[in-house]
Amino acid sequence: MFHFTDALSGLVADIALRVPALAHVRPERTLVFARRGRSGTEGPNATCHCLTLPTSEPGYYFWADEATGVITRRSPCFVTRSPRVVIRGTPVDYMISVTLPRFTDQVSRRKLERYPGLPPWVVRLDTVVHELYHIAPDGQGLRQLARADGTFDARTHPPQFFDDVRDLVLSYLATSPSDEMLEVVMHDFATLKARHEAVVGVTFREASYPQRYVEVVDDLPGAPGVLVEPFKEPPGRALFTEADLIVRDFSRAQPPVVPVRAA
Ligand SMILES: [Zn+2]
Repeated sequence: MFHFTDALSGLVADIALRVPALAHVRPERTLVFARRGRSGTEGPNATCHCLTLPTSEPGYYFWADEATGVITRRSPCFVTRSPRVVIRGTPVDYMISVTLPRFTDQVSRRKLERYPGLPPWVVRLDTVVHELYHIAPDGQGLRQLARADGTFDARTHPPQFFDDVRDLVLSYLATSPSDEMLEVVMHDFATLKARHEAVVGVTFREASYPQRYVEVVDDLPGAPGVLVEPFKEPPGRALFTEADLIVRDFSRAQPPVVPVRAA
């Protein structure tokens, strides 16, 4: 059995240890989890989820009359918050999710062209380093790159981002990490399954994971006194713990959806 997310957490810790520019990554506060994602379909291979973004300023949505511009209805006043994730007493600042098997089966010629002479699996290492590079050096939010004039580039992925990631990948490989450490990125899903029979990983129960959520707050002074439409979605969750995590066998077919029979 290959424990994919444990192996990936080990790789994250090894990269943080060996690459000085990523020394601010705190493996004990970075949760790696897996999600299902089919190979060859649209969607992310991996994602960096930040849990340290500040609570938003309070506000509300509103509907206005098209002709007059007068506000006719509005939502309750709300803020958006990052949920807290606390695993066995340790707060988590960032989560890295990988979609399986899509992550292991990615083929990107464009990415590989950045690594002349290196084997195709380097694109998976590139993805891991890419997500770690999103972690801001001060641990607050996602990294913003400075432009030549010293101002911040508002784009999440300016071209410099990809060049920086390549340099970090090469500097990690230059430290000669072991094949054992690299196994999690060296093989596609079928190979991992053939070598270990099963590929398992930590995931959140009920396939939902911690995301920014809306919290209704007291009405702001000056909020228009019109009809208030309550939010339709159930309120998001504020706290997740190890009780929300399970280990799932990603090498087994997804259980079929059982239709609910009317009584
Ligand atoms: Zn990115």
